[in-house]
Amino acid sequence: MRQRHKPWADTFLQENTHLVIPQAQQHKGKWKELFGNDKPVHVEIGTGKGQFLVGMAQQHPDINFIGIELAKSIVVTAAQKVLDAQHKNILLLNENAADFREIFADGEIACIYLNFSDPWPKNRHAKRRLTYQSFLEQYQEVLANTGEVIFKTDNRGLFEYSLVSFSQFGMRLNEVNLDLHAIEDPLNVMTEYEEKFSAKGQPIYRCRAFFPG
Ligand code: SAM
Repeated sequence: MRQRHKPWADTFLQENTHLVIPQAQQHKGKWKELFGNDKPVHVEIGTGKGQFLVGMAQQHPDINFIGIELAKSIVVTAAQKVLDAQHKNILLLNENAADFREIFADGEIACIYLNFSDPWPKNRHAKRRLTYQSFLEQYQEVLANTGEVIFKTDNRGLFEYSLVSFSQFGMRLNEVNLDLHAIEDPLNVMTEYEEKFSAKGQPIYRCRAFFPG
């Protein structure tokens, strides 16, 4: 996702610490307290500009959503979208998902969404893929029993790699869909990338994987 320098981003983040939570590690094991309720917590990694999160939060008021976005210039755009929508069941983190286990306690998360993650096509960059083994190890610890990793992408190479990575890690699959938009699903919330690529006629792939107990 293209990043534009936003000189106002630091000030914006300082003024909106109720939404883009600083020092996320301090809330490890206590995210529900921050939301002020006992509803399940779902996390999207690589939230981008926040369209998916806002759509999901509207569709599921019974779920708490946390979006993690590495790029400061992008997380502020997501934050503006959340403020406009006035949803109270969303928090954002300007963090690297590589630190996942420092942010969430064992079993604290009910579901993880990976939407159009950066493919990192070169073999020497495989460790950066969000479906690489070191990430799966972290997801396994923080996911509650029966919790799912739901992965959508337009990138066939990354999809194939991820299915093998899930399988080699011992994960099981609830769904493998090679053309998500072939049948209209009113419950599917599209991301910015999903809209862009499906408008070009590219198939969207989705799988739902879990760690057997
Ligand atoms: N999910 C959005 C969508 O589908 O429109 C954005 C997709 S964009 C290709 C990937 C996003 O993931 C970028 O905004 C990038 O900054 C973010 N990202 C990549 N690696 C990350 C990491 N390790 N932790 C958090 N965010 C990450």
